[in-house]
Amino acid sequence: MRWFPRREPMAGDPLAADRAAMVERQLRRRGIIDARVLAAMGAVPRERFVPIGLRSHAYDDAALPIAGGQAISQPYIVAWMTELLQVLPGGIVLEVGTGSGYQAAVLATIGARVRSIERLPELAAAARERLAGLGLGDLVEVIVADGSLGDPGTAPHARVIVTAGAPTVPAPLLDQLAEGGRLVVPVGPANAQELILVTRTLGRLTETPVGGCAFVPLIGVAGFRPGEDGPV
Ligand code: SAM
Repeated sequence: MRWFPRREPMAGDPLAADRAAMVERQLRRRGIIDARVLAAMGAVPRERFVPIGLRSHAYDDAALPIAGGQAISQPYIVAWMTELLQVLPGGIVLEVGTGSGYQAAVLATIGARVRSIERLPELAAAARERLAGLGLGDLVEVIVADGSLGDPGTAPHARVIVTAGAPTVPAPLLDQLAEGGRLVVPVGPANAQELILVTRTLGRLTETPVGGCAFVPLIGVAGFRPGEDGPV
């Protein structure tokens, strides 16, 4: 009798095979090596963070539109930024730009506690609900504010991830970066930025460009003015 490997998706998780293929083809083969990041990307159901009509595209190698004219980032970008952040187990991450909540879910799944700031109240509410539905509500706090100003009340921050494109590295985020801290932020004109890794060592800030990316604009006091560059 011949034996054939089991190919049908796991019961109750019809997109498991697509998710596993995304991890292998889009992440591992492109150089993502952090095992915790790969495991989290293989565990978080991205289909729960995209509009219902786009669920069959949840594991496409692409950003996808979400409500409010915003976007959920391409899986590779989420994994890359998470890897760059080098989250410590149990560490706290400040995220600017909750969007769908997917990036926050990945961070929480690798063991971070996330304080995530979103400027659009309807996106914040939907993300809160989604994260709670996945049992991550205790690990991710979503607040509505202008994240370009950082979060002075909880500063300094050891890890900061900005998931919207800023015209320059927002000065408040630099001021609020802790000693030994890491900040990952896309910088440049709307929809075509350079991803910048900022570190603070012995008080000194170092900015390292690590590659190109394309995000919707960071709108705020230390970002773009509404209507100035890209969608409001
Ligand atoms: N991290 C998100 C995810 O996993 O779905 C993707 C974020 S989306 C590319 C950018 C988000 O940043 C949008 O939801 C947008 O409303 C938000 N945003 C833009 N400017 C902001 C600001 N000043 N403060 C907080 N959120 C902001």
